[in-house]
Amino acid sequence: MAKKKKPIIRLRCDVCKEINYYTRKSHDATTEGKKLELKKFCTNCRKHTLHKEAKK
Ligand SMILES: [Zn+2]
Repeated sequence: MAKKKKPIIRLRCDVCKEINYYTRKSHDATTEGKKLELKKFCTNCRKHTLHKEAKK
């Protein structure tokens, strides 16, 4: 069984630029071509900040 590899997305805090989360992008028509932006807790900033998809 050959599993399709999904790209791993790194989520970077927009405030301190630390990469705090790793996720996998789902091949969804609604997310296709869009940059991921999520409100996540940053341990560095010690608060919820906007995390954006970081490119390699
Ligand atoms: Zn931060």
